[in-house]
Amino acid sequence: MHVAVLPGDGIGPEVTAHAERVLRVAAEKFGLTISLSRHPIGAVAVHAAGESLPKETRDAVVRADAVLLGAVGDPSLDSAPRHLKPETGLLALRSLLGVYANLRPVAIYPSLTARSPLKPERLTGVDLLIVRELTGGLYYGEPRAFDDDKAINTLRYSRAEIERVAVVAFEAARGRKKRILSVDKANVLETSQLWRRVVNDVARRYPDVTVEHSYVDFAAMRLVADPASIDVLLTENMFGDILSDEAAVLTGSLGMLPSASLGEGAGLFEPIHGSAPDIAGKGIANPIGAILSVAMLLRHSARSEVAARAVEAAVARVLGDGARTRDLVTANETAIGTEPMAERIIAALARTD
Ligand code: NAD
Repeated sequence: MHVAVLPGDGIGPEVTAHAERVLRVAAEKFGLTISLSRHPIGAVAVHAAGESLPKETRDAVVRADAVLLGAVGDPSLDSAPRHLKPETGLLALRSLLGVYANLRPVAIYPSLTARSPLKPERLTGVDLLIVRELTGGLYYGEPRAFDDDKAINTLRYSRAEIERVAVVAFEAARGRKKRILSVDKANVLETSQLWRRVVNDVARRYPDVTVEHSYVDFAAMRLVADPASIDVLLTENMFGDILSDEAAVLTGSLGMLPSASLGEGAGLFEPIHGSAPDIAGKGIANPIGAILSVAMLLRHSARSEVAARAVEAAVARVLGDGARTRDLVTANETAIGTEPMAERIIAALARTD
């Protein structure tokens, strides 16, 4: 298979360099033939080519079997026109790939509970998967407008858009604890009323999976009050954006979490964090979110569950042995940099049977 690597901005290139190495090592170890090519996206592409998703990159990603992304974002472009914002390139990439379902697993590493803002007893048994609709809703709806006096965004969902992401969530639930928490705002929004109706329709095809509906405000509380009670959380684009960052805090650091965006063609795999301009270039970024994104790529695109699990086990082992990047240390622990952390994970992976 061919993987297009889009390092992007800030810490994106720092973490993807190591994620690429993990992918190469895993491929060799498990007999997978994987070729890689690199392409610009985000602010680096705006500065070099005048657009955040240049033609070269668009051509490469539609030819690829999977896309591995770092992160985009550059504060110097915050007030640039919309078409020159790095984030516009990311939205265009998701749209181009038709990746309508974003999967974000949130698992707690026992060795990191001290880093979480939640009490350790609240974290016992937390292992949830957020399935977020990614190419519809408020972030894409037209019309949209902005001037000094008013601004417009449009929230629109069709039955087909809801149904296809719901199917992804129900399929995922079947391989887990068979419980779906569908999150909406059906007491206020018509789009949410349709959401509920379609999710219930899909549920009839999955009698082995139980479905519970929740308003987003209550779901936000439940995520911190009783996260272990959630198995698969299914929701629309904006609610998912917010809830998945809230869930990320449970693990203790944004730098830990991977994501997979799946749809019709190539899957898109990226850590959930941004370009972290505050720590870019310092060699201290946590590469684990990017490395676990490689595990998701191995699982969903290369279809090698054994390779995916080996990468995840290598990460767990290294954390269990006490290795910590700066974002993971508590009072009396010493931090290591991006490269030593990645080296240890690669060494652990190489030792896996
Ligand atoms: P961010 O995720 O970049 O950083 C938030 C905080 O988490 C910062 O303190 C940062 O240092 C820390 N952090 C993030 N990743 C880390 C890692 N791997 N290791 C250690 N610490 C890490 O979010 P932000 O500061 O809100 O946004 C910065 C830029 O990134 C903005 O331009 C934003 O638009 C963009 N962004 C991009 C994506 C993406 O590419 N998918 C996602 C979110 C934000």
